[in-house]
Amino acid sequence: MAAPSMGGVSLPRGHGQVVRLPRGASLTDLAEKIGAQPAALVTALFHLGEMVTATQSVNDETLQLLGAEIEWNIQVVSPEDEDRELLETFDLTFGDEGDAEDWVARPPVVTVMGHVDHGKTKLLDAIRNSNVVAREAGGITQHIGAYQVVTELEDDERPITFIDTPGHESFTAMRARGAKVTDIVVLVVAADDGVMPQTVEALNHAQAAEVPIVVAVNKIDKEGANPAKIRQQLTEYGLVAEEYGGDTMFVDVSATTRQGLDELLTAILLTADAELDLRANAEQDPQGVVIEGKLDKGRGPVATVLVQRGTLRQGDSIVAGDAYGRVRSLLDEHGNKLKEALPARPVQVVGLTSVPRAGDTFLVVEEDRVARQIADRRQARIRNAQNASMRKRISLEDLDAALKENRQLNLIIKGDNSGTVEALEEALMKIEVSDDISLRVIHRGVGGITKSDIDLALADDVIVLGFNVRAEGQATELANREGVDVRYYSVIYQAIEEIEAALKGMLKPEYEEVALGSAEVREVFRVPRIGNVAGSIVRSGVITRNSKARLVRDGVVVADNLTVESLRRFKDDVTEVRDGYECGIGLGSFNDIKTEDVIETFEMREKPRA
Ligand code: GDP
Repeated sequence: MAAPSMGGVSLPRGHGQVVRLPRGASLTDLAEKIGAQPAALVTALFHLGEMVTATQSVNDETLQLLGAEIEWNIQVVSPEDEDRELLETFDLTFGDEGDAEDWVARPPVVTVMGHVDHGKTKLLDAIRNSNVVAREAGGITQHIGAYQVVTELEDDERPITFIDTPGHESFTAMRARGAKVTDIVVLVVAADDGVMPQTVEALNHAQAAEVPIVVAVNKIDKEGANPAKIRQQLTEYGLVAEEYGGDTMFVDVSATTRQGLDELLTAILLTADAELDLRANAEQDPQGVVIEGKLDKGRGPVATVLVQRGTLRQGDSIVAGDAYGRVRSLLDEHGNKLKEALPARPVQVVGLTSVPRAGDTFLVVEEDRVARQIADRRQARIRNAQNASMRKRISLEDLDAALKENRQLNLIIKGDNSGTVEALEEALMKIEVSDDISLRVIHRGVGGITKSDIDLALADDVIVLGFNVRAEGQATELANREGVDVRYYSVIYQAIEEIEAALKGMLKPEYEEVALGSAEVREVFRVPRIGNVAGSIVRSGVITRNSKARLVRDGVVVADNLTVESLRRFKDDVTEVRDGYECGIGLGSFNDIKTEDVIETFEMREKPRA
């Protein structure tokens, strides 16, 4: 059978063959893999009711739709799989290497979850501050996103790592991105309140992730505290306290009086020892997960990472998400410099070129070059995926309009931390002023506005937004010289207002018709080489030469879209004739003029916007 043709262009059918594409691939990418012309795919998709250009990122759904049509089994590769493949090309894998027998025991990593106001934050603070080792270290404990405490168990000094962001978001966000960080969940339940919706939610998350739970029954100092009731309630969710014959440890605590904290730490260790065999290879190239990232005024990008395996050292070449660099210094939660960080050790890393996101994995590689290449490839992938998710689908109905008037406002967003950049982007994407105007964020990042941001802005019509950041030296000069629109904000709603106004400014002007005059035809003259001329009397307003006109006969519009091409009073050409006066009106090649017709003239005026 000959290759089927679609819209006149032939396409190679896949007969169910598999083709793998990264999320956010374009039709050109697909064309390359199946040996087709990109234009043929654009046409095929067009016939399916979707209008995209060859190089635009296409979402999963659309790729599947197109795949079904041309009989290719299109597999959209998940970012995780793709990343695994990317690392493989550098001969790297994310995970423990070697024989489990050679691995060393490592501390458990704990996340605190529970209902709002049940005391998660206070409990994390209490544990951090009551720690003896921390006090001996002398430094003021800072929030870096995670910390380690040491507790004594059977004459052994045993560390425990706490993720210092209470709540379910961090837990699920990390899991969603494939980072399994938490070994044990401490479920906080206020003894004076009981099991609440978020308690159940936390419990479900932990159970889904198959992470053992230790229950901290908090606020036992409060009047009305009923720890027994909590134990009772939780049996309904499969958490049966040890003292009732189950295998979940419940500990009564008070974050306020610090009562029961040691018992809680002991319970965590006992649960870890009983249910988990936490080991890691401390000898391999270090790897782990980013817990938090921020831009520090003095030190530049700073990331708190949790080392999961290997031993991280100063001078290591590291790639974390799409950031890379050389570890300039390692700092613990007391601000002390560390020479090295062992598995399950949270540590601040200084020396990255940009700020990675929470949940990104990090790897130490042999050479700076490799780190940079991996980071670059990831950056490109993130950009593609974002473009795909952001593309507004254009339906066939809008096609005409879209082709004629696809107006787009491009933005570059830079901010002081990844959270605000994301929040700002999300808020901006919600602005809707009109269907034919879209907003696109072509680049976003943490840090000051650099020369390369401005270079990027020059390529298109781009507004650069700086949220709590400024343009750096050369960038300001370049922006001024080239007239790039750079705007600074420190309040999100202000940014939204201004961008909304900018979008409105891009709206097509709306016009309205304004009547100018009308004239009644008294007599029709045939003028050689010109055609019929209407001998008329102006009944209202003014008839002006070159104005738009329509012809009305017995109250019905006979012809629209006419122009007053000639206008005469007696033998003279005139530009206008006022009401009450007679004149000759020529309507160009339009000759169907009869006596008693009415010629109305009007003009289109731009409507002021509300
Ligand atoms: P989160 O929303 O779970 O992080 O809860 P917080 O740690 O912010 O605590 C909520 C409120 O409960 C705060 O006013 C705390 O001071 C208070 N609180 C937390 N733990 C205790 C406790 O053990 N006893 C008493 N009496 N109050 C507590």
